[in-house]
Amino acid sequence: KRGYDITRNPYLNKGMAFTLEERLQLGIHGLIPPCFLSQDVQVLRVMKSYETPLFEIKTLQIQTFHQCSLLVKILFCVFLLLHLLLGLFITIHDRGHIATMLNSWPEDDIKAIVVTDGERILGLGDLGSYGMGIPVGKLALYTACGGVPPQQCLPVLLDVGTDNQALLDDPLYIGLKHKRIRGKEYDELIEEFMQAVTDKYGMSCLIQFEDFANSNAFRILNKYRNRYCTFNDDIQGTASVAVAGIFAALRITKDKLLNHTFVFQGAGEAAMGIAHLLMMAMAKEGVSREDAAKRIWMVDSKGLIVKGRGNLNHEKAEFAHDHPHLKTLEEVVETIKPTAIIGVAAIGGAFTEKIIKDMVSFNERPIIFALSNPTSKAECTAEQCYKLTEGRGIFASGSPFDKVTLADGRTFFPGQGNNAYVFPGVALGVISCGVRHIPEEIFLTTAEAIAGMVTEENLAEGRLYPPLSTIREVSFKIAVQVVNYAYKHNIASVYPEPKDKEAFVLSQSYSPDYDSFTLDTYSWPLAVSAVL
Ligand code: NAP
Ligand code: MN
Repeated sequence: KRGYDITRNPYLNKGMAFTLEERLQLGIHGLIPPCFLSQDVQVLRVMKSYETPLFEIKTLQIQTFHQCSLLVKILFCVFLLLHLLLGLFITIHDRGHIATMLNSWPEDDIKAIVVTDGERILGLGDLGSYGMGIPVGKLALYTACGGVPPQQCLPVLLDVGTDNQALLDDPLYIGLKHKRIRGKEYDELIEEFMQAVTDKYGMSCLIQFEDFANSNAFRILNKYRNRYCTFNDDIQGTASVAVAGIFAALRITKDKLLNHTFVFQGAGEAAMGIAHLLMMAMAKEGVSREDAAKRIWMVDSKGLIVKGRGNLNHEKAEFAHDHPHLKTLEEVVETIKPTAIIGVAAIGGAFTEKIIKDMVSFNERPIIFALSNPTSKAECTAEQCYKLTEGRGIFASGSPFDKVTLADGRTFFPGQGNNAYVFPGVALGVISCGVRHIPEEIFLTTAEAIAGMVTEENLAEGRLYPPLSTIREVSFKIAVQVVNYAYKHNIASVYPEPKDKEAFVLSQSYSPDYDSFTLDTYSWPLAVSAVL
């Protein structure tokens, strides 16, 4: 036996006790985390596994999972069974050999990859090789929500080290035990990875970047977005789901985007992604990019971003306006008087009572999005928003909140701006018709599609998103929209163009029903097949 089969055979598998030489010779290098642990230490690991960050990630996925429909749950389990919670580990010391490592993976027809380097996992920070839970979890949602066949999905962790001292000090840690390697070697690793993947799986293999730290995330996206079929979920997926929420909110305020002024708490991946997509939507309403930017203000860890202030990178500079510098979010809201505030800085409680009350004093229906995750980092709770605004606040959150009933008996159901509304459907659409690179308009189209699925009844109850239990239908409709867009704009590579796009997407999507194992058997007319 060789390769993947060994890791599946309990009599042969030694887990992390295989030496590097054994891994290379058996063709299993990359299928096991990049560390070398004796049998005794591995036993200790299993006993202690309930305390690892990986377990926290699993708990988070399970929280989302509980809100899903039964069908989604079945699919989720199918996926986990197939992948046993593991993917491919590629380290910075494997440069020059990534192509060989891809050959160790048991499937050859890969259509989608989710990759992380583990540096900014959720709001948890640098988890190094434990970050593998994220690509595995995201791809589980590709299958469960988007219907992408699980065998076509490959989770990848790029281990370049970790700057998390607690992990470096932990003898049970499963990743490389040195500080993160950055600069030229890091860039070479990413470049080789992109090339090796597309050499083997083709130029339309989708590569989703997930949970990279801020500066790498922007750099990599800008470098590769027009060369490969790739997107960054933390920037673009977040943008799409947040803007979908804004579009739904406009159906309540009954006005145009151009009538709004946005203040962002945070100026990182999420804020920039949302702001850029808002600008694109404003351009559709007929203003220039500069005029659109004027309606957007940002607050980072140093206060309001204004012209001439220090610590402004290229992304922030676009939103630096002529204005005196203000230190706190309270001052900013009081002075700018926005119609919408969007919290994406992972500072729990940042939307104070004063801020919420100010918002409702300037606006009939203030838009208040507390998008930071997890729940403890939310800028305000749903209850605080609805109570302090007496039900006038239009609220969405990143983490789930229960419904809120006010003293007068009205009940509100807060919307959850979960990226899971976006990426599984986009992925299914992109994969189905072989898109080679993903234009930003796809995410705007997706936002419009999601907002269009919110019913008047949903809006009346405060919901800015379709119920999570309908996520399979939502993803399917997004995929159909993406396919329509791709053929209309000549970026599809599957020809001839299918006439019926819905039937086409349906034919590509995976269902948990068992396949028939009957071989291709048929009969001829008796007259010609009868034995004479
Ligand atoms: P990021 O790129 O690291 O950006 C964080 C931003 O917050 C930075 O601009 C930082 O300022 C700013 N910040 C830090 N402390 C601050 C303070 N005291 N006051 C004001 N701003 C402060 O992270 P990200 O990817 O954008 O994610 C941010 C949060 O959004 C996380 O909690 C994440 O879970 C959440 N999020 C939610 C969704 C969703 O709901 N669908 C999607 C994506 C992200 P500096 O630039 O000065 O460092
Ligand atoms: Mn993420």
